[in-house]
Amino acid sequence: MWTYPDSRAAVRDALRLARAMTFKSAVAGLPLGGGKGVIMLPTGSGPPSGEDRRAVLLDFGETVEMIDGAYITAEDVGTSEPDMRVISEVTSHVSGLAVESGGSGDPSPWTALGVEAAIRVACERAFGTPSLEGRSVAVVGVGHVGGPLAELLAAGGATLVLADIDGGRRELADRLGARWTDPPTALTAEVDVLAPCALGGVLTEELVPQLGCRVIAGAANNQLVAEAVGELLAAHAILWVPDFVANAGGVVNIAVELEPEGYDTQRAETRVRAVGDTVRAVLDHADAAGITPLAAAMEIAHRRVADAAAPDSAAA
Ligand code: NAD
Repeated sequence: MWTYPDSRAAVRDALRLARAMTFKSAVAGLPLGGGKGVIMLPTGSGPPSGEDRRAVLLDFGETVEMIDGAYITAEDVGTSEPDMRVISEVTSHVSGLAVESGGSGDPSPWTALGVEAAIRVACERAFGTPSLEGRSVAVVGVGHVGGPLAELLAAGGATLVLADIDGGRRELADRLGARWTDPPTALTAEVDVLAPCALGGVLTEELVPQLGCRVIAGAANNQLVAEAVGELLAAHAILWVPDFVANAGGVVNIAVELEPEGYDTQRAETRVRAVGDTVRAVLDHADAAGITPLAAAMEIAHRRVADAAAPDSAAA
């Protein structure tokens, strides 16, 4: 649910997000992707509340129901679990409900677990060991994903630098014994690993020469301001794990809801930890082909989508 200047911008965003979901799912080996729902709010109006919000959500849910399972909706920017509960009044094609309601709950801690797995594999590649003991990591944006990620990294023995535009998040740094700083300082800190966990577009041509890290792996979507930044990172010997590979834990967890046995936390944990295996496969392919991790991930995604679309494919 987001504000757009006009319906053309909203459609463009829905298509961009649908494409991203397709690549994310394909690389993670999930038979999902291909769609995204966008609820367009008119410019100048804040998010609706009360009965207005309920009406918008029911209208959206009826649209999802009309396409009868071709699209399964889930919470994302501007919506949360209570909204999914409203949508579930008119369609069963909704995921991310609370565990008590038979769903898989908030995806954010699962996204964090997947990012931690991605960081460990990237460290194995860059430093020869997946251990986090004594590794320094800067987490920029300590919200729903960055917060739990910082806790996992601290539990693994990492030394942390934390930053957020919300000063209220400093309490987490104090609790974890982390250094608290401002986001620009954290982005360029001399650390082993940078984990961008706020907004997209953070990795720019100007920033790359200033980076003090060897590895970048984080939750934020669309981290590269342009694909060419992927080449620039490689030229600076910085190992960047493509965001849509590292941050797949949330959708991997949701996909467990769709398995024939239904949702199960232990199975979800196993599947989400396997994000590390996906990262390893992407980095292996990049090394073998002499291409960037981004190019390798895109090649794997395109191959899987083509296989799924082939007439004799079981997934077709
Ligand atoms: P969130 O809103 O809970 O947390 C984002 C945090 O970043 C907030 O604390 C915010 O104050 C902070 N922030 C915003 N701008 C900042 C800036 N310029 N510098 C530093 N901090 C800044 O969001 P989230 O759910 O934790 O998601 C974080 C990112 O991960 C987003 O890009 C999101 O699209 C992506 N992501 C999230 C999930 C998930 O499961 N929640 C899954 C995949 C990808």
